[in-house]
Amino acid sequence: MARIQSLACQLCGSEVDSRSIEKHYVVPKEVMEQARMRRAKIVRLCPKCNAELRNWYNAKVATTTYDTQIKQFRQKLPAEMVKEYEGAYSRFARYKKSQLI
Ligand SMILES: [Zn+2]
Repeated sequence: MARIQSLACQLCGSEVDSRSIEKHYVVPKEVMEQARMRRAKIVRLCPKCNAELRNWYNAKVATTTYDTQIKQFRQKLPAEMVKEYEGAYSRFARYKKSQLI
């Protein structure tokens, strides 16, 4: 019988079979390319946390910002989107930790 390796989810710590652990790009690949980011930050998550994080990104990541200079909303620049995703991820990680207590 083949030995199944288990890995811990980086957010909730639950042990998951290595075949079902999911890699998640903190900053999506297309945004990384636009911002010419070289190093990807990848986290290993269980399917449950990964699904939750996807919903969190859909709900929380803002693609526009109010620009006080032109007094209008505008699309965020790639570098601003990188910060937006990184911020959304760290807020999600904090939220998950607060749930574990
Ligand atoms: Zn998890």
